[in-house]
Amino acid sequence: MEPKVVLHDHLDGGVRPSTIIDLARRNDVALPTQDVQELADWFTIVPGMPFPDAWARFYLVIELLQSADALRLVAREAVEDLAADGVVYAELRFAPLNHLADGMTGDDVVAAVVAGLSDGERETGCVARTIICGIRENDPDESASAARLAASWLGRGVVGFDLAGNEFDFGAGMHAEAYSIARDAGLGLTIHAGEMAGPASIAEALDAASPTRIGHGLHLVDDCEVRDGRIIELGNVARQVLDRQITLEVCVTSNSCLGTPVPEHPVRLYQDAGFSLSVNPDDRAITTTTVAREYELWRSVHGFDAGEFREINLGAIGAAFCDDNTKAALRTTIARGWAG
Ligand SMILES: [Zn+2]
Repeated sequence: MEPKVVLHDHLDGGVRPSTIIDLARRNDVALPTQDVQELADWFTIVPGMPFPDAWARFYLVIELLQSADALRLVAREAVEDLAADGVVYAELRFAPLNHLADGMTGDDVVAAVVAGLSDGERETGCVARTIICGIRENDPDESASAARLAASWLGRGVVGFDLAGNEFDFGAGMHAEAYSIARDAGLGLTIHAGEMAGPASIAEALDAASPTRIGHGLHLVDDCEVRDGRIIELGNVARQVLDRQITLEVCVTSNSCLGTPVPEHPVRLYQDAGFSLSVNPDDRAITTTTVAREYELWRSVHGFDAGEFREINLGAIGAAFCDDNTKAALRTTIARGWAG
């Protein structure tokens, strides 16, 4: 199988439905169904679903991930599932402060996830690192404290910092301090932007975070003039992203769940205009996708070929937040694996 790099995958969005059923039983938490397939269907976010209903899926999973054992288990399983699709390097992200309800500390939470990722890495050979998320709608002090936690784990499995959550109502600007803490510590910087909101939100994200990667960037296309299936002119924000070669962590299926049909996704426009792209599943369970499925959609709907995937994965490992030695080894693996 061709070696793949995943840069954008949420730990709490990818828990196996069968594991959710097990954890719910152990914790006496009610589920809408005990059937694996029915639960998988229930979890899937569909276009038009009100955001509170969509977020309820995450809250249910998070409720089940309040112990070190549960976190370690789902981290290991995530690596197993990614490796089964040929992923050789993955960055899994999550918000540690969501997992403190039953008394774990931030350090306990990160330690459990890092241990689970190491379990998975040992078992499969897929190199797995983690990105710590702050949450837009939470108090800026909380994202600053998440950034400090990430900084204290840098070099021990944690490689980056991200901001996730409600992009409509909470601008990135209020979390600038968290990014300044993360930047000073030497963490890799990414940020969800242009997923729900438009170019102004991406501009604010660039300003507040100075990221080298952007989660989604779907609405960057709103800052581009498109004619005959090509981008012919870039606005200021799109120009900055292109000129700085900020890598877009593209999540096609996830965007389709929020209302952009796969054929209308701008990923082909971005590729032809020279943007730096990576292929990502975002929330494998909550959007019912896999890494293999994302590649199949890029190939069959948007015409990506093996040569393009090879370049995309080499670019993605270049944009990864791990150390240079790890990158160099993976670069060789990717170059050989996609050579055909
Ligand atoms: Zn995401």
